[in-house]
Amino acid sequence: MPINQRSYDYGSAKSSIREIAAYGAARKAEIGPQNVFDFSLGNPSIPAPEAVRESIERSLSLPPVQLHSYTPGAGLPQVRDAVAASLNRRFACSYKAGDLYMTCGAAASLSISFHALVNPGDEVIVIAPFFPEYCVWIQTAGARCVEVMADPQSFQLDIEALRDAITERTKAIVVNSPNNPVGAVYSRQNLQDLASLLHEREKALGTKVYLVSDEPYREISYGAEVPWIPSVYDRTIVCYSYSKSLSLPGERVGWVLVPDTNPDHDELAFAVAGAGRKLGFVCAPALFQRVVADCVDVPSDVAAYERNRKALTEGLSALGYEYVEPQGAFYLWVKALEPDAQAFFEKAKSLELLPVPSDSFGCPGWVRVSYCVGYETVVNSLPAWGKLAQTYR
Ligand code: PLP
Repeated sequence: MPINQRSYDYGSAKSSIREIAAYGAARKAEIGPQNVFDFSLGNPSIPAPEAVRESIERSLSLPPVQLHSYTPGAGLPQVRDAVAASLNRRFACSYKAGDLYMTCGAAASLSISFHALVNPGDEVIVIAPFFPEYCVWIQTAGARCVEVMADPQSFQLDIEALRDAITERTKAIVVNSPNNPVGAVYSRQNLQDLASLLHEREKALGTKVYLVSDEPYREISYGAEVPWIPSVYDRTIVCYSYSKSLSLPGERVGWVLVPDTNPDHDELAFAVAGAGRKLGFVCAPALFQRVVADCVDVPSDVAAYERNRKALTEGLSALGYEYVEPQGAFYLWVKALEPDAQAFFEKAKSLELLPVPSDSFGCPGWVRVSYCVGYETVVNSLPAWGKLAQTYR
């Protein structure tokens, strides 16, 4: 084939999440939006904070050439200073602008991190169930994506399963807490156990294993502590995004942090910059870098998600569904009422309920319900969830 086979495959393969969302949009046009309960996408439903609009308006008064210019590849120094200062206040660290590289969202942060870390033949471990794009980015960077199931009861990291999976080829492990699709938040103890395991394996194998911490949901937690992973394990890279915390998914802005405590800091910081260059990102959007500097400490409005979470968990619990109590993010992981999640999804779909079957996330038998939707969608969907349960009685 004269064109790139792998790119063709990724472009022509159907993403089941996107397909369900497209079906939902078409179905809403057909029978009215109030009659379709679309829980497919992780698109934040709360508006971006007012501070975002104010920041944009302030930027618009800058001379246009200055406003729209390229920024340095790593981002505007004052923006990286502001992010570093915010992290230092929150996590008692001493990061500097030079530890940060501004990106086009978490997707770019992750693909840059994988390109910075791996060589052909390396393996990167992902914890199933996982955000499906991880494997695309890992494979594109030249490594093999190795799936390891989370603990099937708690959905915390399964340390023994990880012990079995780590080989001399393991270059990195991706951790995502608060987690998409499960809503789990890894406890400090669980992360400390992971750190001990990695130190032990590094010593036994004579290798280095990095943690790539994917944190777009850090701000969306319902009371659980979200530990700062570089303080638990030093060979960590943090990938962050404002897509969820400031409800800016379409604006593409985030960062990669190579903490100053990472023993390979200097080489890694160059490799991150090189990966950004290699991938052709040039720089993160200039306007939204400025928004980040202005809004770095603006809190996420999690109250709306918390209200949805309460209504959904109480409603589904009363109907006899089993689910993982979500501690963060805006996803509910619900046990399908039959072993085949796809068949369960088809029955849900016939009742205008659109969750995502768990097979998309590398795990059988569950569905993901994205509750970053309007409150009325959650409440009005409950009779349909009731009918769905009844079809299994
Ligand atoms: N990682 C996880 C776990 C996600 O859920 C998402 C988006 O939904 C991303 C990364 C990508 O985020 P972004 O839109 O900032 O690229």
